[in-house]
Amino acid sequence: MEFAKTIESVRSQVKAARSGGKKVGLVPTMGALHVGHISLIEAAVEKCDFVVVSIFVNPTQFVPGEDFEKYPRPLEADLEICKKAGTDVVFAPTPEQMYPAENITWVSVEKLTESLCGQFRPGHFRGVTTVCTKLFNIVAPDIAFFGQKDAQQAIVIRRMVADLNMPLEIVICPTVREPNGLAISSRNKYLTEQQKKDAANIYKSLQKCRQMIDAGVKETTEIITEMRKILQQVPSIEIEYISIVDAETLRNIDRIAGKALAAVAVKIGPAKLIDNILVDVSK
Ligand code: AMP
Repeated sequence: MEFAKTIESVRSQVKAARSGGKKVGLVPTMGALHVGHISLIEAAVEKCDFVVVSIFVNPTQFVPGEDFEKYPRPLEADLEICKKAGTDVVFAPTPEQMYPAENITWVSVEKLTESLCGQFRPGHFRGVTTVCTKLFNIVAPDIAFFGQKDAQQAIVIRRMVADLNMPLEIVICPTVREPNGLAISSRNKYLTEQQKKDAANIYKSLQKCRQMIDAGVKETTEIITEMRKILQQVPSIEIEYISIVDAETLRNIDRIAGKALAAVAVKIGPAKLIDNILVDVSK
């Protein structure tokens, strides 16, 4: 496995792989890798011949007051994980490599970024779409892999790629969970064992949503009320939002018809956690 710190170095390695006819996969991450990230790397190894994992804690997607400074950066352990998972190159640039001067050129996706996390993290998605555009331009992958855990991010990026005719495919991989249902996240490192147990109620609330839909309930306010009750059973949970939105437009819906996304964001202690499920009543 190679380790590239500079744009020139990752570009030359991808160029060599491509000239050998290899299909290139990119897994963008912020590091502090866990089994959720590993599942994306494994999907990339399966579908591609040459896999690049980027590790970059992107400053432009953190809103003032968020955890940019204290975000975990265990680079040595991350490199070991990448190697074991079959990565060909880890691209881990410095902020100066990625943003050598004040950034005054941005890529913004409208509408899809207004709801859900967009309401609470102004500028977050603009940072994500800008850094992903830069990574896509630097690595020029055939396929980039994202996780369903960050559903809004994946949908926004897929739309950006379509709208801007970017020549790559976006693959969205399923959410990997702890045995108690908690979606695995780098930010789970901020939680105590008790808080991790408490956080299992996030997935319980989403399961309740699925059960109600399976039982024929279509009114979203009725479902959200029951989900809220489950989250409120745990005093340490502070609800940011519980939303049921159209899976394509991400707009709130009153009644479920077709594909919908049920999404939850909460704060537990120092961590903000998000999770979601996709439901499809057309089936
Ligand atoms: P991050 O390092 O948190 O920016 O995440 C990098 C990528 O890994 C994103 O596409 C995430 O959606 C994905 N990811 C994070 N956690 C999980 C998980 N538990 N299951 C599947 N994918 C995940």
